[in-house]
Amino acid sequence: MIDPRQVAAGIVGAVDWQTDVSGFCRCPGESLHTQPTGKKDCRVSVDGAPTIYCFHASCGPAVANANLRLRRLLAQGQWEIILPGGKVLRSGDILLGDGTVKTRREIEMGAAHNGSALPHPGPLPPALRAGEGERNERLVLATLQAVADRFKPELFEKFCWPFTQIMEDSPLLVADRDADEQFRTWLRLWPAHCHVWIGDVYSSGKPEHRTHFRPVAEWYQIGPVMGNFTCGSSFKPGSFQRSNANCNGTRFLVVESDTLTKDEIGAVFAYLNHRLHFNLHAIIDTAGKSLHGWFDAPRDRQIELRLKAMLTVFGCDPKLFTYSQPVRVPGAYRDGKLQRIVWLRG
Ligand SMILES: [Zn+2]
Repeated sequence: MIDPRQVAAGIVGAVDWQTDVSGFCRCPGESLHTQPTGKKDCRVSVDGAPTIYCFHASCGPAVANANLRLRRLLAQGQWEIILPGGKVLRSGDILLGDGTVKTRREIEMGAAHNGSALPHPGPLPPALRAGEGERNERLVLATLQAVADRFKPELFEKFCWPFTQIMEDSPLLVADRDADEQFRTWLRLWPAHCHVWIGDVYSSGKPEHRTHFRPVAEWYQIGPVMGNFTCGSSFKPGSFQRSNANCNGTRFLVVESDTLTKDEIGAVFAYLNHRLHFNLHAIIDTAGKSLHGWFDAPRDRQIELRLKAMLTVFGCDPKLFTYSQPVRVPGAYRDGKLQRIVWLRG
């Protein structure tokens, strides 16, 4: 019977194994890196859907190619590894960070992770809920979470972007602008025709709340007086309820976390912007403990679900994928402190 670790080493060369199934390796596209290469930039994992993952973006095609070869070779046969303690890990199973084995069957059935392990990726969109496609997607999502959990420490180190650095790096100087200017600067993120909601959390659901849903041009006149919150999505004209069904066209993915500090979450923003190429438009200081990153929304449900699986592992709030979720609007005051843009795309 084949040992998947040998197969992996046959493709990427020597592996510095960190666990029984995953370790650091040389990136198959290292010569294409445009930034200096660190020892922990590339990782190979043989469990779940076997994966080579590198923090660099420029090596993408070479890594994708190596991944195809790895998966093709490992798909040829059933394999198993006897883990220390006697547990058996078979092809397609995933070894979680706490040492438990999640079997391929459990993953494909969409069973919840037990105990302290990773957050459940949630239900699949209807288009993916059938047969082999569904089983594959569940395996991909579970692998993505396991791999993200493994490279999380390196991610926070490599992409580290503390709050003061974020402000210094802003292509446009915005943090010192006054409340009105903060609000108008933020409005310019939206196409002029968009209808945007601004209010307090409960300014929604009744016909009298229609006044909180207005075109961008009207908000320019009114200023930041209607409440402390907005949404990352625009709404259908005439809406009075902030619901996903009323979302319309333009939307942003607003990335936030209840657990990461202002000095930590920048790493997630930098990773999304530079490695995953979700355009970062603005970073907003909520005048509380957190920062919000405004990004392009994922192009489709599959990308969205994969991103969600990964971001929740990093400590981001799963509610950010509810597009009608209220978020802090720049230009309003919270307990005497200004909610403001601290980083703005040039
Ligand atoms: Zn690479």
